[in-house]
Amino acid sequence: MRHGAFGNATALACRECGHQVALGPHYACPECFGPLEIAYDFPAVTRAEIEAGPRNIWRYKALLPVPSDIEESPNMEPGFTRLLKAHNLGATLGIDNLWVKDDSTNPTNSFKDRVVACALSAAREFGSTVFACPSTGNLANAVAAAGARAGIKTVVFIPSDLEQPKQVNSAVYTDSLVAVNGNYDDVNRLASEIAGEEEGWAFVNVNVRPYYAEGSKTLGYEIAEQLGWRLPDQIVIPVASGSQLTKVHKAFQELISLGLVEDKPYKVYGAQATGCSPVSVAYKAGVDAIRPVKPATIAKSLAIGNPADGVYVLDICRETGGSVEDITDEEVRAAIVLLARTEGIFTETAGGTTVGVLKKLVESGALDPTLETVVINTGHGLKTLDAVAGSVGPAATIDPSYAAFTRTEIV
Ligand SMILES: *Cc1c(COP(=O)(O)O)cnc(C)c1O
Ligand SMILES: [Zn+2]
Repeated sequence: MRHGAFGNATALACRECGHQVALGPHYACPECFGPLEIAYDFPAVTRAEIEAGPRNIWRYKALLPVPSDIEESPNMEPGFTRLLKAHNLGATLGIDNLWVKDDSTNPTNSFKDRVVACALSAAREFGSTVFACPSTGNLANAVAAAGARAGIKTVVFIPSDLEQPKQVNSAVYTDSLVAVNGNYDDVNRLASEIAGEEEGWAFVNVNVRPYYAEGSKTLGYEIAEQLGWRLPDQIVIPVASGSQLTKVHKAFQELISLGLVEDKPYKVYGAQATGCSPVSVAYKAGVDAIRPVKPATIAKSLAIGNPADGVYVLDICRETGGSVEDITDEEVRAAIVLLARTEGIFTETAGGTTVGVLKKLVESGALDPTLETVVINTGHGLKTLDAVAGSVGPAATIDPSYAAFTRTEIV
């Protein structure tokens, strides 16, 4: 490993017992098997230094486990996506001050390009020869594309029943897409087994997961910077493994402790689809343990039945005064159309889940409509066309005559 290969990161620290190990391709604590997280010794970082950086996640490189020359290695340059003021959606839902963080405009059209860019940097420093992942779809797209651009062999594993557009979106970048007969949790187990057997494989969300997960912090940094170096009052985030939600919270905490934003309370809300809602079920039952489920929902990118960071999501949502909520597949479809018709943003089923949960939270009074609120759109609707193909379409099919048009009563 090169000197400074991981920037200001100093070690891997256990989230459960605090035990530290040297930076390496490890993810489980040797003492208690708890998850390892990156520990840092941050220098003083100023807003001006960050603002002078590139318009992608590397503007925050001082806060990530990456080398200071990270921009020089070919990568997808994800991030710095739009934060849009959602006037129409806000008015429809009765929320005064609503923003959409639109991560569907990342290079492979989901937030996964952020985490994969950090995992790729780690894989390079470890000298890995294969860049791999088990995926619910978007991760496979991001790994396959990033590996192609970096010139490193990729192998991506997906459940065989995945939406066809997501399969094509991976296969176009790699000749090693492996469809596994099973659900995501089966694919994930297989990946852990391969990671244990094969030398030199970097599974982005398995053995380099601590590095991968840090990439999600950039969503939190960007939201704060784009609000004018402020934290929102409320934020709604989708939950699959729970990594993104915990890291956005970590990002906000780091910005506070670095003095880059003012300390203030904010509430974090988690969003799941009812057909795969183990975290929401535990939240509502008031228990700490998550009971794994067998996913059955159209929100396939969120369909993780045994979420690795689920318990931390519960802690954060409870501590901040937020909550975890879930909605039906019908509500997911309706929310996709709602976001498209109010803001011109076509989201995939994960974004439908998040926007639909936002709506439910306002209606139930769990979310305060007078406070500044951010909702994250993590993926693109073109990857899950089938979800709404049956609900939208031509309002009329007519002959090419003005008389025929007037009979449609469209205007
Ligand atoms: C992976 C994914 C998420 C959330 O992932 P976590 O495992 O909870 O970090 C959210 N939205 C989309 C579209 C995804 O692909
Ligand atoms: Zn431990």
